[in-house]
Amino acid sequence: MTPSKIKSAVPQTRPGSATALAEIRPGEPISRAVALDLIHCDDENLPALLCAARAAKERFKPKVITYSRKVFLPLTNLCRDYCGYCTFRRDPGDPGAHTMTPDEVLEVARAGEKLGCTEALFSLGDKPELLFPEMRDTLRHLGYKSTLHYLEAMCELILRETTLLPHPNPGLLSAEWIARLSAVSPSMGLMLESTNAALLVPGAAHDNAPDKLPARRLRTIEDAGKQNVPFTTGLLIGIGESLEDRVDTLLAIRDLHDRYGHIQEVIVQNFRVKPTIPMAHWPEPSHGEMLRAVAVARLLLPNVNIQAPPNLSAPYYEELADAGLNDWGGISPLTPDFINPEMPWPHLEQLRLRTESKGFELRQRLPVYPEFILAVISKPGLLSDKLKLATDAQGLAQTERAA
Ligand code: SF4
Repeated sequence: MTPSKIKSAVPQTRPGSATALAEIRPGEPISRAVALDLIHCDDENLPALLCAARAAKERFKPKVITYSRKVFLPLTNLCRDYCGYCTFRRDPGDPGAHTMTPDEVLEVARAGEKLGCTEALFSLGDKPELLFPEMRDTLRHLGYKSTLHYLEAMCELILRETTLLPHPNPGLLSAEWIARLSAVSPSMGLMLESTNAALLVPGAAHDNAPDKLPARRLRTIEDAGKQNVPFTTGLLIGIGESLEDRVDTLLAIRDLHDRYGHIQEVIVQNFRVKPTIPMAHWPEPSHGEMLRAVAVARLLLPNVNIQAPPNLSAPYYEELADAGLNDWGGISPLTPDFINPEMPWPHLEQLRLRTESKGFELRQRLPVYPEFILAVISKPGLLSDKLKLATDAQGLAQTERAA
C-alpha cells in the first residue's frame, strides 16, 4: 500500500474560506458548502476558524472540558478484520494473542475502582469466532455461544461486582444485540471512521476488513438510534480519505443524530503510524489537519460532544482545546492504550494543568454523558441503580479522587 494511491488530504486554499467564516451564525450548524471551505482553510484564516469553533463550544458547554476515568479491557484481541493501521488485532497463535478470563476482567476492574475509575471500556475484535475455530473453542470452554454472549456476561459482571459502568465497543451489532447490550451498559460505541467505501479496495486501509463497509456501520448506528441508545461514534482521519470525505462523514453522523438524537459523542481520531502495520510508510495527518477537523466537527455539530484523544496529539494536545472540543475521552490511570500502546495517556494531573492553562476546568464524567442519563435511569433495574449511585447532581461522576 502506498500513499500515492489515495487522494491528497493536505489542506489546499479555497477562495471561499474568508467568505465561509463570515457565514457562521452563532448556534446554527454550518452547511456542507461552508464546511468544505473551512476544512480547506489556509493558515491565515485558521485563527479565525478556531475562534469561531471555540465560541461555539462555549455556547454548548461553557468553561469545562470533561474526561472519563477508565480501565481498558481488551476482552479479546482476535479479530476477523485486517485493518491496515491496526496494531491491536492478532490471529490465534500470534505472540500476545489473548482472550481475557472473567477473573482477569474483574481484577483489572477492581484495581481501577481503587483509582477512582468509573468506566470499564470493553474494546475487542469483531466476531473472531466467525473466522477462527480456536476462538470457538475458547468460547465453548468459557461457556458462551459467541463473543457477544461473553461480552454481555462480562458487562453484567462489572455492573454486579463493581461500581464501574461498562462501555462496550464490539464492532457491528444487530438490533437484537444493541437491545441486549443496552440492558447492561449505559452507552456503547462504534467508530464510523469514514463514509468512503473506496477504502475497502485492494491495498487501501480497509482492504480485508468487511466490517468496515460504511453502509453496515451506518446501519448499526441507526439501529441504536431507533432504540434510543446513547451512542459514541466518530471519524478516523488520515487513512486515505479526502478532506471532502471528512466533511461527509460528519454530515452522515449529523443526519443520524438529527433523526434520532442519540449521538452522545463524536470522536475525531488521527491515524498514528507504527512500524509493524501494513500502513507503516503512510504519512500521518498534520496537527493543522487535526485542528481543522475538530473545528469543522464543532461547527457542523454545535450541540454534540466533540472529543479528540490527547495521547494521539502529544505533546501539543492542549491546542485542540482551541478548536472547540469539550472532552478528552477515556483516560486510564491504570491500563495502557492497547490500540495505540506506544502513545501513553497523559498523567491526569498534567491533563488538568494543561486544560486549565487553556482556561477550562477539567471534570470527570461517566461513560454516558449528562444529557443522556435520564433516559437510561428511567428503565428500572441494576443498570439504573448503579448509574444513580455513580452520578452527581450535574450528571457527572459522583466521586473525583486524586490522580
Ligand atoms: S481496527 Fe478493529 S476491526 Fe480493524 S483489525 Fe483492528 S480490531 Fe479488528
